[in-house]
Amino acid sequence: MRIDIITIFPEMFEGPFDHSIVKRAKEKKLVEINLHQLRDYTKDKHKKVDDYAFSGGAGMVMMIEPIVACIEELQKERDYDQIIYTSPDGELFNQPMANSLSLLNNVIILCGHYKGIDERIREHIITKEISIGNYVLSGGELAAAVITDGLVRLIPGVIGNEVSALSDSFQNNMVAPPVYTKPREFQGWKVPDILLSGNQHKIEEWKYEQSVKRTEERRPEMME
Ligand code: SAH
Repeated sequence: MRIDIITIFPEMFEGPFDHSIVKRAKEKKLVEINLHQLRDYTKDKHKKVDDYAFSGGAGMVMMIEPIVACIEELQKERDYDQIIYTSPDGELFNQPMANSLSLLNNVIILCGHYKGIDERIREHIITKEISIGNYVLSGGELAAAVITDGLVRLIPGVIGNEVSALSDSFQNNMVAPPVYTKPREFQGWKVPDILLSGNQHKIEEWKYEQSVKRTEERRPEMME
């Protein structure tokens, strides 16, 4: 899979993509993540990519031309399955969406800033708008990092033991059961006996029951 991220702050991605699972996925060549500095695509001599809103009021708006120039440049090389814009009013990011995005070959993620991007880009060029939650961030970079991490770990081969990703929360409309490790007892706090019983069938049953119970308690809407 190839992910092209368009941003005015490419440095913001140095941390999230250089460690852990995303780093491993890049090393294994299962994903290629390319960062594009939007300012490289403006003809303005001061590298300006935003301007005042026609509606007046506070806040700048990201201009059409540099964004279109960058996307067109990328499209000369390959077709894109989705051109995503990170936006607070977009479709809420969730596990089914991560699953389906992880199956795509080429994806662009455009990060907004300031008041957002000129609406005409959303109307004519963007094919999918994603929000990571009902709150407003300063820019789309953290959202793009969340989306990228969420889907890269699902690409087949990225996580060693694939059962691991499939048994995470939300994969079957339930949250995950609790997990424990050594020691068996800490200051009188014990690991549930069943997990030490060695009876795999009973353990699976227990895990399932715990998932159902937790989902009912914490995400009742998912049980419907
Ligand atoms: N004026 C806009 C907010 C702009 S915030 C509004 O009221 O809707 C600046 C940029 O941050 C946005 O263009 C978007 O790319 C990004 N952003 C902010 N909150 C986000 C969220 N919850 N999910 C995804 N992207 C977000």
